[in-house]
Amino acid sequence: MNSHLQAENFSLHRQLESLLNEARINEDKMRRFDQLERQLIGAGSLLELLHLLLSECKLTFGLEFVTLALVDRENEASRILESGLGSDTACSGLTLLPTPAALETLYCSTHRPFLGVFSEAQHQTLFNAPAAAIASVALLPLTRQGELIGSLHFGSANPDRYVAGCATDFLERLAEIIALCLESALIQERLKLAGLTDALTGVPNRRYFEHRCQAEISQARRYRHALGCMFLDIDRFKRINDTHGHQTGDEVLRSVAVVIQSQLRAGDTIARYGGEEFVVLLPQSELHYARQIAERIRRSIEENQFQDHSGQAIKVTLSIGLSMLPAELPSVENQQQAERLIAAADQALYQAKNGGRNRVVCAGSVPLATARLSAWRRIFRPLSARKRSKRA
Ligand code: GH3
Ligand code: MG
Ligand code: MG
Repeated sequence: MNSHLQAENFSLHRQLESLLNEARINEDKMRRFDQLERQLIGAGSLLELLHLLLSECKLTFGLEFVTLALVDRENEASRILESGLGSDTACSGLTLLPTPAALETLYCSTHRPFLGVFSEAQHQTLFNAPAAAIASVALLPLTRQGELIGSLHFGSANPDRYVAGCATDFLERLAEIIALCLESALIQERLKLAGLTDALTGVPNRRYFEHRCQAEISQARRYRHALGCMFLDIDRFKRINDTHGHQTGDEVLRSVAVVIQSQLRAGDTIARYGGEEFVVLLPQSELHYARQIAERIRRSIEENQFQDHSGQAIKVTLSIGLSMLPAELPSVENQQQAERLIAAADQALYQAKNGGRNRVVCAGSVPLATARLSAWRRIFRPLSARKRSKRA
């Protein structure tokens, strides 16, 4: 009897130990989930959020692989990431999908997490990793208002890490928070982007350009790259407005932006500087290449068939001033250097106008003398306050 009670007592003791152990593991798990969730909610930008998901998740949960797929129907996330407003962080492990179709197939329309054995046929494309390195996976659908907006994938080398039938409460809660944070970050970035985009042409505006110009100068300085800057102004644009109407003028502005963009590489920057003036930055471009691009833009505008609403042809030409960031930079701030670069392009544009318009003039890479700084300052008054002397 005594020994029977002892055995029962021992068994109860073991059960209690096991329950306590499980409680401790769950408490630890909860603490780690809670810590990550707080970080996600506190993320200041989309890039920071992506960094947390793709890098921090690995550390927090001790995982070998974490990847994320985001549905990006309008290429919005892609544009935000390309604009590099937040930082230069590379988003390795991120895939942008034009539609949720692939994710719908993955989750068989249930929108429930999948935990289980890694299947090369079904999961290989999600992880871009050697198949032998992953034994078990947790796939978390990210949904908002019943729609799949993305999918987060955890891959572990441990076959017992994610097993079918395991409770998914923590993971489901995490997925809900991530989906909410992603949606909110995209809304924030959309607002930021709207403030930096020209409403008429859809290209970046002057504010964005000034931010970008300093960033490009900093890169060019660090890696000793060449940097070209173009100032482009539509010739006799007032006459186009006066002859064909303001609406047609707007249409011409939009088309000119499209034509300029079509001649640029992905890493180049175009912006509407104001009125009928555009600026372009050409990173990693020597003078001869930048001159070629400028000439190509000039010619493509000259040859483009612009029409007004009644089908009447409109002759449009551009004048372009080109300047290069000097190879030997004086020790001035990036902002001041940006001002000098744009001012030099603006002065070259002035010469192009004086020389008869529809032409490219290069300012070369010679830094302007310090005595000319007052002229730059004059040019760098805000556009509204600035009244450039009428060109011949
Ligand atoms: P130049 O060859 O010397 O550059 O002559 P221009 O006529 O192009 O230059 P000017 O500065 O005299 O006129 C620019 C015109 O651009 C005047 C202004 O009404 C027009 N403009 C500025 N912004 C817009 C806009 O958003 N839409 C339209 N339709 N016109 C605009
Ligand atoms: Mg002008
Ligand atoms: Mg003009």
